Amino acid sequence: MSYKNFPMVPRVIFGRGSFNQLSEILEPKRLSINSPFIYLIDDVFRNNDGLLSRISLAYDDKIFYISTKEEPKTSQVDALVEEIILMTKERPSGIIGIGGGSVLDLAKAVSLLLTNDGGAKDYQGWDLVKNEAIYHVGIPTLSGTGAEVSRTAVLTGPEKKLGINSDYTPFDQVVLDSELTADVPVEQWFYTGMDCFIHCVESLNGSYLNTFSETYGNMAYELCKEIFLENSLSKVESQEKLMMASWHGGMSIAYSQVGVAHAMSYGLSYLLGTKHGIGNCIVFDYLEEFYPEGVKLFKEMKKIHNIELPQGICSNLSDDEFNIMINIALNLEPLWENALGKNWKQIISAKKLKELYQKM
Ligand code: NAD
Ligand code: ZN
Repeated sequence: MSYKNFPMVPRVIFGRGSFNQLSEILEPKRLSINSPFIYLIDDVFRNNDGLLSRISLAYDDKIFYISTKEEPKTSQVDALVEEIILMTKERPSGIIGIGGGSVLDLAKAVSLLLTNDGGAKDYQGWDLVKNEAIYHVGIPTLSGTGAEVSRTAVLTGPEKKLGINSDYTPFDQVVLDSELTADVPVEQWFYTGMDCFIHCVESLNGSYLNTFSETYGNMAYELCKEIFLENSLSKVESQEKLMMASWHGGMSIAYSQVGVAHAMSYGLSYLLGTKHGIGNCIVFDYLEEFYPEGVKLFKEMKKIHNIELPQGICSNLSDDEFNIMINIALNLEPLWENALGKNWKQIISAKKLKELYQKM
């Protein structure tokens, strides 16, 4: 048996208001006055003086506001990298991503592509990256994906939706300030929070489970139950706990894998552009046979928070379109092996997936 030797985020600062310390964290990392810090910030913060006034720009530092209407694409990474190369006199001192999973993944990918030749699509897969990334910092403003701790930057490319999984992908520094999540709309809070819950269910019920994943997964699972089922937490407690659930859920899948909901949700996302959090919820709602206890709790949580999921999103699809989704899903072999074991091909078929998609 050969065990995987994974890197982890080496530095993390936690606490409400810790974002105020950003410039003191960054300044020692400035390479020269010609080597700027580049901020990628979700454009929901474009007019948010409370956040922007706490970012101190110096020399050639620059902010790019990122639209998250769509999830990050390989072409978007390439365009940003080109723009950064053209506008900077020297390689940037660092890339700082401020936003939800979309912006965090974009920041990871941009920092990698600034030091690796070619396009982002060339690195979608496992361990294809050759050179260390530029110093990169992740500051989540929405909790659940675990993108702040993970070893992947998920991108949609011309042929596939797949992460850049590498030892160089994790952030060098993460700032966990739950105050930044205070204004997330309830539905988005639920969808991305459920991403975390589903990470735990898939990891804890998977064949790849081991004590490392199990202990992190259990912690995050219990936190999710406290946040989404019990009504005993203050707003601040709930925000802080979800931030840590996201972290632990991400740690849990680092050393295991996700499962059926993620595989099928990737299909929806590729064909219909359904975003990750809501896509996972739409799929998970129909997965009782794979995750009976998790789906039961999920339905309770949905009810408590008055969440109505879209229905019939696959009702007008052609056979070809179903096949595209099914192929995307079935190609994610490690997810199926984790979910159903080594003999997964005998358990799941294209026909079975089509029946499930037809319900959604
Ligand atoms: P997101 O980043 O796409 O953001 C969703 C919405 O929330 C956007 O409209 C955004 O503007 C808004 N938002 C973010 N912070 C806000 C705030 N503080 N106040 C108000 N609005 C705010 O959503 P997400 O669910 O965090 O991320 C989804 C992405 O993460 C997908 O691209 C998915 O593939 C990726 N993902 C990555 C990993 C990983 O390990 N790298 C894991 C899971 C998912
Ligand atoms: Zn996920």
